[in-house]
Amino acid sequence: MAEADIDGRAYARLDDLQPGDTLIPDGGFDCLAEGQPRRVWRRESGELCIDCRSGVHVLAGQDDGDGFLVGLYRADPA
Ligand SMILES: [Zn+2]
Repeated sequence: MAEADIDGRAYARLDDLQPGDTLIPDGGFDCLAEGQPRRVWRRESGELCIDCRSGVHVLAGQDDGDGFLVGLYRADPA
């Protein structure tokens, strides 16, 4: 479980996000470019997603079990 990276920068929380928010990936993804902002959107089945090189990146699949999206930062931290 992880709330923040080794530098203390907080990861986004799935519960805090809504369509239109912006996420910034770190360098740990094959399908997302580091630092490239990604707009959150909701697909028909209700899950929040961002676009990625694989197509659609479902954020619920990124939740490591405690609600934090490891490797994704909010562009606009609350
Ligand atoms: Zn992806």
